[in-house]
Amino acid sequence: MNSYDVIIIGTGISGVFTAINLGNEKNILIITKNSIDQSDSYLAQGGISVQLDDEDYDDFMEDTLRAGHYENNKSAVDIMIRSSREIIQDLINLGVDFDRRGSGFSYTKEGAHSKTRILHFKDFTGEEINSKLIQKVKQMKNVTILEENAVIDILAKNNTCYGVVARNKNNVTSNYYSQVTVLATGGIGGLFERSTNYMHLTGDAIAIALKNKVKVQDINYIQVHPTSLYTLHSGRAFLISESVRGEGAVLIDKNGNRFTDELQPRDIVTEKIYEQMEKDNMPYVRLCLHGYIKTNIAKRFPKIYEQCLKEGYDITKECVPVVPAQHYFMGGIQVDLKSKTSMENLYAVGETSCNGVHGKNRLASNSLLESLVFSKRAAQDITYHWHVNKLPVFSAPSYPSNEALMLQNKEMILKEIKKEEKYAK
Ligand SMILES: Cc1cc2nc3c(=O)[nH]c(=O)nc-3n(C[C@H](O)[C@H](O)[C@H](O)COP(=O)(O)OP(=O)(O)OC[C@H]3O[C@@H](n4cnc5c(N)ncnc54)[C@H](O)[C@@H]3O)c2cc1C
Repeated sequence: MNSYDVIIIGTGISGVFTAINLGNEKNILIITKNSIDQSDSYLAQGGISVQLDDEDYDDFMEDTLRAGHYENNKSAVDIMIRSSREIIQDLINLGVDFDRRGSGFSYTKEGAHSKTRILHFKDFTGEEINSKLIQKVKQMKNVTILEENAVIDILAKNNTCYGVVARNKNNVTSNYYSQVTVLATGGIGGLFERSTNYMHLTGDAIAIALKNKVKVQDINYIQVHPTSLYTLHSGRAFLISESVRGEGAVLIDKNGNRFTDELQPRDIVTEKIYEQMEKDNMPYVRLCLHGYIKTNIAKRFPKIYEQCLKEGYDITKECVPVVPAQHYFMGGIQVDLKSKTSMENLYAVGETSCNGVHGKNRLASNSLLESLVFSKRAAQDITYHWHVNKLPVFSAPSYPSNEALMLQNKEMILKEIKKEEKYAK
C-alpha cells in the first residue's frame, strides 16, 4: 500500500509552500502532472503585493474590494493583507530576491492599485520565488516528489478523503493513500482556446470535486487579462504584464490615439479593448512602452523584451499588438479561511481553491500573495488538527483513457460554469 501522511497535488507555489510549512515531521508525497517547474507560478511576471505600512491597510483593502466589485470575502482579504509582510519575510528567509533601490525595496505599480506596493524580481518574480521554494523542498528528506503523474480522482468514502488515484506517463493507474490530501492544481486555462496559462492546467481538481460532491464556489468568475501579445502562432498566449502599464505604457487604437485609462481594473480595461477592436475592425490594439516608460525597458522587462523581439517587435522602439486572453480563475473549490474543503481530510490551496478573497475580479499581484498566505494556513491547520485515521482499502480503479477523461472533465466544468452564469443573470 502506497501510504503517506500528506499528499499534495501540484508543484506551483501553493503546493510547495504547503509542504515547507508542514515541516520535517510528516511523510509527504508531492505529485505533479508535468515536470516540477511547469506551473503558472513560474510564469508570474509582475510581482507580489504587500502592505507597505500600517497606514496602507485601508487603501490595500479598498483597492482589492473595488477590483473585486465588492463581492470579496472581507475576512479573507483582511487575513491576506495582515499576513503579507510576514509572508515576504518567509520568502526572504528562504533565499528569494526582490529588486532593490538603495537600501530598500524597489516597488512597482499595476492597474487598480492606488499605491506603488508590488515587490518584484525584474519581470520574472514567479520563477524567482518558485525556484527557491522548490530548492528548499528538494532538501527535505521527508518529501518525495513524483513528476509526470496526473491525479485523476480522489479516494473518497462517506465524505472523507483517503488519498488519490494517479496515472503515470505509461498509463499505469495507482492508488496513493494519505491521512490528508491537499489539492494545489492551479487554474483552468487549458480549457480555453486562448489563455496565458500552461495548457496542461485543465482544472482537474475542479472536475474531481464536482464528481465527488465537494463544494465549489464562484465557478463562473473567470478573469481575462487585457494584454497578451497578439500572434498568429498557436499555443500559450504570452502575457505582457500589467506592470508595464503601471510604469507608464499606454494603449492606442489604429489611429494612434489613447482610448482608455490603462490603470483601471483588468475587467474594465479588457472590455474597453474589445470595444475598440470592434470599432477599429482590428484583431488587436497596440501597447506602447517606448517614450512612456522612464526606466531602461530591456533591463526592467527582460523576458517581455526578448519574447517580443522573437515575434518581430522591438518594444524599445515600437508599439506591440495586444489582445485579451483568459488568465485567472477567481472561483474554485470552496474552502474556509484555513483552506479546508467541504470534505473531511481534504484541503485546497492556490488558484484551484476559492476562499472569496478576489471577489468577482482579482486585483493584480494578489494571487501569489493569496496562494502563499492560505497555503501556510492550510499547513498550520493540518498540523494543529493532526490525528491518524485507519485507511480503508479501495479496489484497483478503472478509468477512461486520458483523452476521453479530459473531454469528459472539460464538458462537466464548462457546463457548471454556464449553469452559474444563468443563475447570475
Ligand atoms: C503568465 C502569468 C503571469 C502571472 N503573473 C502574476 C503576477 O505577476 N502576480 C500574481 O500575483 N499572480 C500572477 N499570475 C497568477 C499566478 O501565477 C497563479 O495564480 C499562481 O502562481 C497559482 O499558483 P498555484 O500553486 O495555485 O498553481 P500553479 O503554479 O499553476 O501550479 C499548479 C500545479 O498543479 C499541477 N497539476 C495540475 N493538474 C494536475 C493533476 N491532475 N495532477 C497532478 N498535478 C497537477 C501542475 O502541473 C502544477 O505543478 C500570473 C499567471 C500567469 C499565467
